[in-house]
Amino acid sequence: MKYTLDTIPVLDAFKSNCQCPLCQLAISCEDGYIDSLLSSAYMEPEVRIETNKTGFCPQHFALMYARRNKLGLSLMTHTHMKEFLPELKKILDDSSQEKSGPLPFFRGKQKSSKAEMLRNQIRRCHICTQVDTAMRRYAYTVIRLYLDKAEFRDLMRQKGGVCLPHTALLLELAEEAFSAKECQEFEAALSQITLEHLTALEKDLYDFTLQFDYRNAGKTPDPRVRDSVERAVNRLAGAIVGTEAERPAHND
Ligand SMILES: [Zn+2]
Ligand SMILES: [Zn+2]
Repeated sequence: MKYTLDTIPVLDAFKSNCQCPLCQLAISCEDGYIDSLLSSAYMEPEVRIETNKTGFCPQHFALMYARRNKLGLSLMTHTHMKEFLPELKKILDDSSQEKSGPLPFFRGKQKSSKAEMLRNQIRRCHICTQVDTAMRRYAYTVIRLYLDKAEFRDLMRQKGGVCLPHTALLLELAEEAFSAKECQEFEAALSQITLEHLTALEKDLYDFTLQFDYRNAGKTPDPRVRDSVERAVNRLAGAIVGTEAERPAHND
């Protein structure tokens, strides 16, 4: 796959006050796709072909449902169900499976349980696919900037790297899209930055837990460690709690 650079949003995210710039870019991308889908993109035939085929994951169904305007969501869900029901019948109806043999996407597999086939069907999501594609482009840009620009290397060090899910994405992409030498250089630097940051965070979190010790009752909590639970959770799992996980407000 050929990747293009998307420098400005990456630099803006790394300069902003956040734990993981890639999480902030993912939230912003996701919000933009949901906006575009619910405002008019759901009427575009090529978009509808995709949403009919894949549907949405629980998180993205919930985010769309939270918007006030339900027309786009109801139309997309209806035509997805219409297309999905015959597939569902093939999975759940034994007589239909016997007649037609295994489903095309499971051919070659000896035996797939109904549960496994069902999970594979409902796991797909149009918005996840769009966000994943954009995040790979951003990850590619991060690695390129790190290798080429001393100023960006400083930014990466100041941030202490990114959350662990996005660390995995960066390592995967470095291996996939860069030369062995570049990959090795980036991987060594990112690993060191990540380990240093997480070691310091573990210490902050430990200090935070000590505040609950009865021997420290009445002492002023250390402001340095006040948000360490939030920081640790978001580092380990991606931005899922607190201000880091906040999404833009909408009235539509
Ligand atoms: Zn992240
Ligand atoms: Zn999704």
